[in-house]
Amino acid sequence: MSNAIRIIMLGRQGAGKGTQCVRIASEFGAPHISTGEMLRAAVRKDSPLGRVVKEVLDKGELVNDELMISLVQGRIGEEDARVNGFILDGFPRTVAQAQALDHISEVRPIDMVIDLEVKRELVLSRLSARRVCEQCQANYVATGDEANPWICEKCGGSVVQRADDTPEAINHRLDLYDAMTAPLVAYYKDQNKLAVVDGLGTPDEVFTRLRTAVAGMKNR
Ligand code: ADP
Ligand code: ZN
Repeated sequence: MSNAIRIIMLGRQGAGKGTQCVRIASEFGAPHISTGEMLRAAVRKDSPLGRVVKEVLDKGELVNDELMISLVQGRIGEEDARVNGFILDGFPRTVAQAQALDHISEVRPIDMVIDLEVKRELVLSRLSARRVCEQCQANYVATGDEANPWICEKCGGSVVQRADDTPEAINHRLDLYDAMTAPLVAYYKDQNKLAVVDGLGTPDEVFTRLRTAVAGMKNR
C-alpha cells in the first residue's frame, strides 16, 4: 500500500487555506496544488493560458469548468502527484468540477475533503490585509508600518497586494463561493469524506487541528 495522501481543501477566501496547505504539504510530503497560483503564474508569464484568464481573475469571476478540469487533470497526472498524492487548493469550486474530478481520480481516489471553516463576516479584514510574494507566493499580513518597498523574508522577492484583492472583487468571490462552492460540503459529506475544521485561531492552533483531522482520516 502506498502512503500517498490525496486531500481537497475547501474554505472561503481568507480562511487561511494557502498557509495551511503549505504546512500540510510539507508534513505529509505531498505537493500543494493551488489552481489560483497556477493561473496567476500563467498570467505573470503572459502565456496563452495567462492571456485567456487574466481578465477573469482580475474581475473575480470563475474560469470555465472545462479549462480548469483539463488543467487539474494534467497536474495530478504528473509523477510527483501520482507517487506522493497532493493537497488540492482551489479545486473543485463547482459541482461540475467535483463530478469531473470523481471521474478523473477513479484510479487513485481522493482520501478526504477538509472544510476549513471561517464565517464570512470574519474574513474581510484578513483579505484586505493579505499580501503575497510575487516570486515565491509566501503569504504575509500587512500591519501598516512595514518598510516600503516590502521585501520577502524567504526569497527576497517583492511583497504585493494581489490584483484581485480589491473590495469589489473580494465580495464578488465570496458571493460566488457561497453560491457555487459551498454546496460541495454536502456533496463530499454524502461521500463520507468530509472533515470540518475550525479555521479560527493562530496558524499553529489551526494546523494542530488539521493534522489531527488528517491523521484520524488516515487511520479509518
Ligand atoms: P481566492 O480563494 O482568494 O479566490 P485563488 O487563488 O484560489 O483565490 O483563485 C484565484 C482566482 O483563480 C479565482 O478568483 C478564479 O478566478 C480562478 N480560479 C482558481 N481556481 C478555480 C477553479 N477551480 N475554477 C474556476 N476558477 C478558478
Ligand atoms: Zn518570496
